[in-house]
Amino acid sequence: AMLPVDPVKENYVRKVKNCIFSMAFPTPFKSGVRLIAVSKEVLEDILDLDLSVSETEDFIQLVSGEKILFGSIPLAHRYGGHQFGIWADQLGDGRAHLIGIYMNRQGEKWELQLKGSGKTPYSRYSDGRAVLRSSVREFLCSEAMHYLGIPTSRAASLVVSDDGVWRDQFYNGNIVQERGAVVLRVAKSWFRFGSLEILAHDGELDLLRTLLDFIIQEHFPSVDVKEPNRYVDFFSIVVSETAQLIALWMSVGFAHGVCNTDNFSLLSITIDYGPFGFMEAYNPDFVPNTSDDERRYKIGNQANIGMFNLNKLLQALNPLLDPRQKHLAAQILEGYPDLYYTRFRELFKAKLGLLGERKGDEELIAFLLHLMEKTEADFTMTFRQLSEITRDQLQELAVPQQFWALKMISKHELFPAWVSQYLLRLKSNRNDSDSERRERMTTVNPRYVLKNWMAESAVQKAERNDFSEVRLLQQVLQHPFQKHSAAEKAGYSSPTPSWAKDLRVSCSS
Ligand code: AMP
Ligand code: MG
Ligand code: MG
Repeated sequence: AMLPVDPVKENYVRKVKNCIFSMAFPTPFKSGVRLIAVSKEVLEDILDLDLSVSETEDFIQLVSGEKILFGSIPLAHRYGGHQFGIWADQLGDGRAHLIGIYMNRQGEKWELQLKGSGKTPYSRYSDGRAVLRSSVREFLCSEAMHYLGIPTSRAASLVVSDDGVWRDQFYNGNIVQERGAVVLRVAKSWFRFGSLEILAHDGELDLLRTLLDFIIQEHFPSVDVKEPNRYVDFFSIVVSETAQLIALWMSVGFAHGVCNTDNFSLLSITIDYGPFGFMEAYNPDFVPNTSDDERRYKIGNQANIGMFNLNKLLQALNPLLDPRQKHLAAQILEGYPDLYYTRFRELFKAKLGLLGERKGDEELIAFLLHLMEKTEADFTMTFRQLSEITRDQLQELAVPQQFWALKMISKHELFPAWVSQYLLRLKSNRNDSDSERRERMTTVNPRYVLKNWMAESAVQKAERNDFSEVRLLQQVLQHPFQKHSAAEKAGYSSPTPSWAKDLRVSCSS
């Protein structure tokens, strides 16, 4: 049916008032639309679609923004946010369209969102598009995070077009033409801290209450919507889940890159993959985004930023709280560091195969991280190789050649001291054998994560219309804890190749 709106008029860029969404239509590509990749699991397990559906023209039209679903009204979400610590006012879905909410066979609701699908009222100074390289990265990484067991948005499909999109290369000052791409992303909810912040900031308190009650009703079943303390209860969950999410990021060496409040999900899932990175040589100052001059979002600062962002969220809730509730919420926020460290400790203890609680566990973890930092040993592979090496090999300080990350760390003069402390601690694990320890550790320490050079290698091929490495990575990262022969051949568990030593990622995307 025809809608009584003019899509061109509806999509004009402006400051929007008194709403949570704006009707906004995707802008179809003009030329050369091609499907590059799909996630079979997202299609089948979340969207109840047979994989063969992805071969149809209808599917490509839907996931590229050419056609909208019958009866659906595509929307762009209005939100604000604190960017790099400063209130940025209205941001919103500047290049994303919510094309529908799907209730699947299990009764779960999933929100389908296109990213890179053209201008909306929130596009500000930009073109509403996303380029191939950043779309490949988001597609691969969001799926990879899911298989690492980390809450995240998912990616259903990736299409590329022949439409040109101009982007600044930053590092060399050149502006180059790239190709526009669209990812179909799905999440239980795309609401962010900034979704509430904009309403509080603009004094739209009725709408703020309406949105909060809706979010609580839909996504926080343990909170009673009729309870006068519901916003405090809601906040308490967001505080603990955010602490949990950031601890999980740290446990795999993931740096989000742009931890602005508009990129922090109210459901505490990882969203908005941009200049993210997996840390290689262990370094708390690791910054994936070359545009982050102040190093605000360095990996070792993410937990602090979580606190900063939660504080901004609390400020948005404050107009709805009475003095007693404000006090309660502030106390809850004070508990955040404890929640974070407790979870961090649990995760790193599991990474080392430690059972139970012993005095000195924290020191043992910190000692290892210190050695890694000093020797620039690879974070992912050090933990992985500790999961693969036997206790006897460690005891003899005979690190086999294939354990290249451990070899690096073993050059440190204090390595033998750490090993003896570690072995002593392992002895205190009750009812544990060395094979059980290794089995346990290999299920929490991945062998493969999406390092920047791997994504870059896949992107470089994709730019030449060779999508083989996108698909290989997709396959490998679906089982990040299992050795995979093609992955070994591609060097995914080997030291970073020398060509990739100076790779950089900017926020241009
Ligand atoms: P980010 O920090 O990358 O998640 O994006 C910050 C804001 O900029 C969001 O409101 C985005 O929708 C918007 N944005 C980013 N890139 C574009 C683009 N190419 N066109 C329009 N809006 C964009
Ligand atoms: Mg964003
Ligand atoms: Mg973005």
